[in-house]
Amino acid sequence: MQDIINSVKTTHELSKPEIVELLKNGGDELFKAADEVRKQYVGDEVHLRALIEFSNICRCNCKYCGLRCDNKNIERYRLSKEEIVDLAKKAYSYGYRTVVMQSGEDMYFTAELLAEIIKEIKLASDVAITLSIGERSFEEYKILKSAGADRFLLRIETTDKDLYKSLHPNMDFENRKRCLRDLKELGYEVGTGCLVGLKGQSLEALADDILFFKEIGADMIGIGPFIPHKNTPLGQDEGGSFELALKVMAITRLLMPDINIPATTAMETLNPNGRLIALQSGANVVMPNATEGDYRRKYEIYPGKICINDSPAKCRNCIERKINSIGRTVSTSKGFRRPLTPPTFRGDVADKKIEDVIENILPLPTGEDKGGNYENL
Ligand code: SAH
Ligand code: SF4
Repeated sequence: MQDIINSVKTTHELSKPEIVELLKNGGDELFKAADEVRKQYVGDEVHLRALIEFSNICRCNCKYCGLRCDNKNIERYRLSKEEIVDLAKKAYSYGYRTVVMQSGEDMYFTAELLAEIIKEIKLASDVAITLSIGERSFEEYKILKSAGADRFLLRIETTDKDLYKSLHPNMDFENRKRCLRDLKELGYEVGTGCLVGLKGQSLEALADDILFFKEIGADMIGIGPFIPHKNTPLGQDEGGSFELALKVMAITRLLMPDINIPATTAMETLNPNGRLIALQSGANVVMPNATEGDYRRKYEIYPGKICINDSPAKCRNCIERKINSIGRTVSTSKGFRRPLTPPTFRGDVADKKIEDVIENILPLPTGEDKGGNYENL
């Protein structure tokens, strides 16, 4: 075990059986190695992303999610354009340099409407914008990118095709991969990730997920334990463990040393110190909630969501204090990935502040990254 860990710290390569071994038996030494690699490649700064949950209306029916369209036991809402722009402005005033616009797959928000919102946010505030709105066409993603969106989060959820099919009625694994490919081609920073602890999900399947992240050259990886929601078909399942999700995250850091990895809110739901532990086991990003009022409670993807009664201002202060308490600092930049090899030129670079351009093109001194291989997608 220690041999595998020592070797991956410099090679950043693991075979599937080695990953399975680490998932089975890895412990403190795995988390410590991921923390060291994090420090070496992305440093001690933590990037904050303000999460705006702008609609809980969803056309999909993912069996694990409280927002699924068959859940009639939920008060649906959708924020207005003005409300969304206002939340983004407030987030900027609290010091956030990225806002994440997340929602169910709510087709009321056409690409054109979202593009207007993105443009207004960008005019008012110097922030990077991440979208997390699910599957759309290449053309729609293109409109959103042209409007100024910088990043996109779309978890693959699981690479086990049979499991994927059983969890996602009327959805298609190949289309999800198509989305990730389109997003990369359009120049987004692409985030993906998986759920951990789904019934029927083997350690081998989790190892495949991790290898998939590396294969496609993802820029961000969000790993979350599955938390059963009573108003879904999986409400009686056991759910994922904090430990296993932490291991998947730590191994991902060892294999992809220069990417951004959030300490996810779902981890904090399972462990009161979950995010700090994750930040000390490979993570370098936190996504505090910037949604206001009752909407937080209504955006119930899973139960037990933290801070549902808090305000965005409180969350901002609270997280900074926590981050400082472990000797880390909050970054003041937009926190783009700093790839080990210079990125190919992206058309949107001209719109960015010079600091961000420099941040984007400075190669770090060590290591070598293969980059993504889309032929296998
Ligand atoms: N609709 C968009 C974004 C919102 S859902 C999308 O699906 O991409 C964001 C993430 O919440 C999903 O990717 C999924 O991994 C996670 N999620 C959904 N239900 C969950 C549950 N019960 N426990 C933990 N995470 C869950
Ligand atoms: Fe909708 Fe996303 Fe939930 Fe699936 S995971 S039901 S797409 S909000």
